[in-house]
This record gives sequence, C-alpha cells and structure tokens, in this order.
Amino acid sequence: MSIEDKLKVIASTALESLFSRNTVKTPISSFDLLTHVISLGTSPGVVPGSGPSPRFRLVDLARFDRILERLADHWDCGKIVVSRDEDPDGGLTVMDVQLGVVSTSQPERSPPRKRKRPVDEDDDSAVGRTQEAEESTPEKVVRWSPPPGTLESLNKVMKEVYGLMQQSTAKGKLLAEQFRSLTGNFEPLCLRITKEECARARAESNASSSPSKGLSPICDRIHFRPLIRPHTDPTLGHCSYLNTCYSEPTYAQSPSIPPLPSHRQMQYGAQGSGPVSLPSGLGAGGRGKEKAPCRYLHFEVDWDVNDGQGMVDQRSVARRKPYKVGLGLGPMKTLSKPLPAQWINCDLRRFDYSVLGKFHVIMADPPWDIHMSLPYGTMTDDEMRAMPIPALQDEGFLFLWVTGRAMEVGRECLRFWGYTRVDEVVWVKTNQLQRVIRTGRTGHWLNHTKEHMLVGVKTVTDEHGTLKFPSWANRGLDTDVVVSEVRETSRKPDEVYGMIERMCPGGRKVEIFGRKHNTRPGWLTLGNQLGADQIYEEDMRARIKAKYPERNLNPPPDAIMH
Ligand code: SAH
Repeated sequence: MSIEDKLKVIASTALESLFSRNTVKTPISSFDLLTHVISLGTSPGVVPGSGPSPRFRLVDLARFDRILERLADHWDCGKIVVSRDEDPDGGLTVMDVQLGVVSTSQPERSPPRKRKRPVDEDDDSAVGRTQEAEESTPEKVVRWSPPPGTLESLNKVMKEVYGLMQQSTAKGKLLAEQFRSLTGNFEPLCLRITKEECARARAESNASSSPSKGLSPICDRIHFRPLIRPHTDPTLGHCSYLNTCYSEPTYAQSPSIPPLPSHRQMQYGAQGSGPVSLPSGLGAGGRGKEKAPCRYLHFEVDWDVNDGQGMVDQRSVARRKPYKVGLGLGPMKTLSKPLPAQWINCDLRRFDYSVLGKFHVIMADPPWDIHMSLPYGTMTDDEMRAMPIPALQDEGFLFLWVTGRAMEVGRECLRFWGYTRVDEVVWVKTNQLQRVIRTGRTGHWLNHTKEHMLVGVKTVTDEHGTLKFPSWANRGLDTDVVVSEVRETSRKPDEVYGMIERMCPGGRKVEIFGRKHNTRPGWLTLGNQLGADQIYEEDMRARIKAKYPERNLNPPPDAIMH
C-alpha cells in the first residue's frame, strides 16, 4: 500500500469520526479540516500492515486535497461533496458530507448491477465520478433525510451560496495571515468551561453516534476549574467579576490566562511532567473595598501538560503563506526595527512638551473627571483643555479614550486641540470566561459592556478647506470593534496597539497617561506612575537634559541610538 493510500485510510476514518460527532460542520475549508484530522491523530490498527503509520502534517495540504477529491469520487462511509475555490491559489472546500448515504461494496453476495439512478440531483455533484466507477461499483444506497430548515437540507445551489458567504475575502485572509499573533499567546477556550462539562458533552455526543476508539475524553482547548474555597457557595453561581473581583486573590493574575508552557512548543506525544503550576494568587489587587471573601464562584485555568497533545501548531499555519499584502510603509517610508520602549515619569500638567518633538500618533487615556472613584488622581475639564496637545503634532492621528461624561467633554477637547473626529473604536469587554460582560463596575442606567476610543485627525485643510489626511496612513485594514478581555481598572486592550501600528507603521508614537504595562517598542509613554525615565533618542535626551538637568535619564549614554 502506498503512503498516499495509507493516508487515504487515515483521512477516511478521521472524517467519519469528525462528522459523526459533529465536531466539524460543512462547509469547511480543507485546511481547517486537515487541522482537525491532525488533532485527532491515528489510532493503532487503522492502517493495515505492519510498521508505523504515516501521519498528516500541515504541509500535506495538497496531498490532503487530492485525497478529498478521491473520496468525493468514492467513499465507503458515505458521500462527500467538495468544491475548489476559483482563485487558482485557493484551496478546496468540503461543501457537504452525508454519512447516511452508505455505499457498501458487496461483490460476493449480490450480483453486480448498475448503479441506481441518483436519488436526488445533489448526488451528481460529487466531482470527478467516472463512468467506469459507476459501472463497476455495486452499491446499496441508504437514504438519510436532513431535518428541514437545517444547513444540510439546503439544495446544492443554496449550499454553494452559503459556502461563498462563509468565505472570507482574499484581502481579509491575507491580512489575518500577515498579522496573526506568533507569540503563542492566543489560546482557544472550550465553551463548556470545565473539563467535566466538556467530557460529559463529548460522551453524550459519542453515545448518539458511533463511538470511535482513541478519542480523548476532553477537547484540546483551554478549560477552567472552579475555585471552591471554604467560604464559596457554588449554588450562588458565577461571581460577576470573576478574576477581576477585588476579593479574589487571583485578581492579580489578570488577564485570566497566564503564559502557559505552550503546548505549541511541544512535540506530539511529549511526556507530561504533571500539572502545570500556575502563578499563585498575589493578593487582592482591589482598592480596599472588599469586606468579606466573595462567596460566588471564581475560576482558574485548568491546564495539564498532556492537554495540548495533538494541538495544531499555529506558527506553522502562519508560515504556510509567506506572502504579504502591499501595505504602505508609514511616514518613514521604510521598515526598520522600532526603538526600545521609552518613557518619562512626569506630571503632565506641568511638563514642558516642547522637549519631546513631533509625533505621527498620539494616544491618550486621560484621568477625566467622570465623578467616579478611581485609584489615581483625576484632572479637571479646564486642565484637560489646557493640555498642550496641539504642540505635539503637525500632521497625524489622535486616539482618545472617553467614558461617561467625557464622551462629550472629550469630543469638545478634541476639537479645541485642533482635531476632526473621523472614527470611533468600540471595545466590547469580555470576562475571564470570554463572555460579554453584563454586569461590570460601571453604568448607572445600563450596565456598561463597552468603552470608546475617538479617532481624530489633526485638522489640516487644503486651499479649498477640505480636510487633508496623512498620506502615509494605511486605510481599511482593521474594523472599529475590538473584543477583548478586561484586566486591571482602566487598563485598555493591547489590540489597539496593533490597530494603530497597522495604520501607521513606524513613525513616532506617544502615549499620554500610560502606565508601566503600556510601555512598548516604538512608543514614548508619559505618565506619573512609570518610575525612572528611559530615553533612547539622542536628540530628545539632549533637550530633556537641557530643560531638566536634575532628571536621571536611563539607559546609560553608550546604549543611545543614533
Ligand atoms: N491607559 C492606561 C490607564 C490610564 S489611567 C492603561 O491601559 O493602563 C490614567 C493614568 O494617568 C494613571 O496612571 C494616572 O496615575 C495618570 N495620571 C493622572 N493624572 C496625571 C498627571 N497629572 N500627570 C501624569 N499622569 C497622570
């Protein structure tokens, strides 16, 4: 048996298992299907003959596509309908799989007979079915009717329309490839939350379909474990704040998923060394309001080293398509390594901004006076208006976080500083279990689930009074909605940095009212909770030294960038 034939047997068994369990649904791209087949692994004895069975790898996509096309031609377990993208580089999409249509070869028991006329016109859609196959394959057709109103019940044309609607655009796919996180920080979560729930659901789905050997009792996503402490009353249900509850010691671990020893770095079959020890609680990070321990349910990540076996390596996914979308190079017109993070600890009401130079991007999350108790001092509306923002920019963008009454005051300041609001980003907040926050800490009339970031462009007009946009800005890449987990009070999602850096690659960027965790390469961060300054740009350093000789600027001069 050739390797490809062996892989065909493996694919066939895996597809039967995946579709009988509804682990995957059509339409599905062959690539996504391949990742599931790889995750499933091969149970011993599936491939006839001795010696080790071959295994699919992500680089086998072309071979997997060929096998799918052969299975579409003839599959002992049922019927599989595939369609190839019109784009020449595009892959295969599995449009439909019907396990109920069983084709059983019975050469010994029943005399060869002509294949029955297909029961419905869909039957003809199996591409590449040859006359010879039809003549020589005697089969018994067992019909299965999909429930009306379900995807399976759509006719062939509607299924194709649906399949097309599900496909992302070529630009969307390329952008996702290009900007996919390579840090391994992205961990998909199991919607069942706990391992017990996941195992129960899988066992139920197994019972309703044919059980298959070697299937792990739980899925390979991240699960959570309820923290049952002496004071916990599980009947009360989930705490509204979960890991951001001030009375919960795991608060300081926020965001909920601390860096795990990534199973993506592990070889399949790596030997486990017992459960991972997660960072211990670092003490309540709240503002001293907690009176008694919270009796509601909290969770922590429940991850064991063996959980990740069979997990798809995301980095090889990213390597698969090295081509890049033709993006503008930003104001510097060249792609260079950003400078290390720089910051200045200062009172922004008094600091002389003229030492900083000009920036292409300003981001600000001001301590607006929103009549709420906050763990830091706020600034009055007049102090905000008086901020010398106009001096920081000749041309570029201002990203301004606003909340509560600052939604109005912020707009007013933005205009006052010489900006035109062109967009507004909404951050939809999710909790530790990745569900939309329904009862957060803010909102008098409605519970707040989102925050807002205004996007302003410096008001520069041409001779006709038309607003001029920075020529270097990349447009149309990101959407104006970010869905991301809440962390410490006031902390904003890191996703906005990616969004801004895609709009303005390179260039000088300043974050005003930032904290230590906001500092990052390519950015200068200003705030009063930053600790000793760190400055690399030599000219800025000289200006600061001249104006503030007493300031101790890190790093030492020999580390200065020219
Ligand atoms: N965007 C930040 C949160 C900013 S909260 C994040 O993602 O974490 C506002 C910050 O502004 C606080 O650190 C606060 O101490 C600081 N701040 C308040 N008044 C200030 C002032 N006068 N000068 C400098 N920083 C100030």
